[in-house]
Amino acid sequence: MHTTTTSSVNLKEILAQVQAFVETELYPLEAEARGKSWNQILPQLEEKRRRVKELGLWTPQIPVEWGGLGLSVWEFGQVSAVLGQSPYGHYVFNCQAPDAGNMEILIEFGTPMQQERFLKPLLAGEIRSCFAMTEPEHAGSNPVFMSTTAVKSGGDYIIDGHKWFTSSADGAAFAIVMAMTAPAHENKYQRASQIIVPLDNQGFKLIRNIPVMGEAGEGWASHGEVRFENCRVPQEFLLGEEGAGFAIAQTRLGPGRIHHCMRWNGICERAFDLMCRYAVSRELSPGVPLATKQTIQNWIAESRAEINAARLMVLDAAQKIDEHGQYGARVEISVIKFFCANVLQNVLDRAIQVHGALGITEDTLLSFWYRHERGARIYDGADEVHKSRVAREILKGYGMKKLGK
Ligand SMILES: Cc1cc2nc3c(=O)[nH]c(=O)nc-3n(C[C@H](O)[C@H](O)[C@H](O)COP(=O)(O)OP(=O)(O)OC[C@H]3O[C@@H](n4cnc5c(N)ncnc54)[C@H](O)[C@@H]3O)c2cc1C
Repeated sequence: MHTTTTSSVNLKEILAQVQAFVETELYPLEAEARGKSWNQILPQLEEKRRRVKELGLWTPQIPVEWGGLGLSVWEFGQVSAVLGQSPYGHYVFNCQAPDAGNMEILIEFGTPMQQERFLKPLLAGEIRSCFAMTEPEHAGSNPVFMSTTAVKSGGDYIIDGHKWFTSSADGAAFAIVMAMTAPAHENKYQRASQIIVPLDNQGFKLIRNIPVMGEAGEGWASHGEVRFENCRVPQEFLLGEEGAGFAIAQTRLGPGRIHHCMRWNGICERAFDLMCRYAVSRELSPGVPLATKQTIQNWIAESRAEINAARLMVLDAAQKIDEHGQYGARVEISVIKFFCANVLQNVLDRAIQVHGALGITEDTLLSFWYRHERGARIYDGADEVHKSRVAREILKGYGMKKLGK
C-alpha cells in the first residue's frame, strides 16, 4: 500500500492545519447553524472562507498555476477525509461538488474566454455553478439516454429540455448542460455535448427546489428541477468539442467519485467518534455504560474495520489515478463507489442505534447525515451499476464477451 506523498507539498502540515481549522472553526458553527437554512448561515460561511484564503489553504485540489495547492488525487483524498468531518468543510475550502467538478473540466477543456468568464470567478469563490445532466423522463443510469437538445441557429445554440437533480442550481451563476447536438449520430457516445449556460438567461427556469428526505433545500444545498426553453447561448459556450459531452462527463466523474468517497470516510470518522463517546458516557444503570455490552463492542469493532478498509481502498484507487489516469483505475473507482457508500450507511446506522432516540433528533449531526447521504448509493452511479461494471470487467478476463449493459 502506498504510504508516501507524491508531490512536494508538506502534506502532514496541511492535514494538521485543516484538522485544526475544522475542529476550532467549523464544529462550533454546526451548533450555531442548527435549525437554520442555508441562506441564513451563508454570512458565517463566507467569513470562514476568508479565513481559509488567509491561511493559504483555498482550493487544495486545484493546480498551483490556478491558485490552488496543487495536491495530487492521493493527497487531496486525505484532506477531503478531514473536511468531510463537518458538513461545511468542502464548501468553506471551495472544493465542494458540483463546483469542484466544473472547475476541473473548465481547466481541462475551457477556452481562454470561458476560463476568464466562468472559471476564474468560480475559483475565487465569487460565484457558484451546477451541472445539468439527469432528466426526470429518462433513467439517469444510462448517460447517453436523454431528450434535451441543442440546435445551431445563427451563431448560437438553442437549448430545449427538462432536467432534475441539478444540484445547487438555486443561486448558481451558470450551468454546464448536457444536450444532444447530434441525436442521430451512429455512435451513441458522440450524440451529446456540454454547453455552458449563464443562468440569468431568459430561457432558463428554476421550476422548484426538489424536497429531498424531508428537506426543502436552498442555495448550494438545493437540488433543482429546471427547464431550458428556447434558451439561446453563443456557440462559443460549447465546452470542448461538439459531440464530446459523454467523454468530458467521464473525465469529471472519476476524480469526483474519489472525492465523494473520501468525504464519506470523514463522515464515518466523525460518526464513529460520536458513537464511541456516547457508548462510554451513557449509563444503562449506575456505573454500567453502554460500552460494556458486547453488541455495542461488535458495532465499534466492525465499524473500525470497515472504515479502515474503505480508507485504504480509496487511497489505493487515488494512487492508481495519479499514476495511470482515471481510465487505468476504472475497476477500483467503481469498487470504492459502492463499497464506501455502504460503509457510510452501516456506520451511520450503528451510530444512530447506539444513541437511541437522541440519534434521530437534530441534536447530533447523525440524523442529518443519515438523510443527506442516503443519496450516496444513487448519485454518480447507483450501487448496482458499479457492481455490474466491476463484474463485467473481471469476467472479460475469463473470456466472457456478451454480458449486457
Ligand atoms: C443527491 C443527488 C444529487 C444529484 N446531483 C446531480 C447533479 O448535480 N446533476 C445531475 O445531472 N444529476 C444529479 N443527480 C442524479 C443522479 O446522477 C442520478 O440519480 C443517477 O444517475 C441515477 O439515475 P436515476 O435516478 O434516473 O435512476 P435510474 O437510472 O432510473 O435507476 C433506478 C434504479 O435502478 C437500478 N438500476 C439502474 N441501472 C441498473 C443496472 N444497470 N443494473 C441493475 N440495476 C440498475 C438502481 O438500483 C437504480 O437506483 C443527483 C442525484 C442525487 C440522489
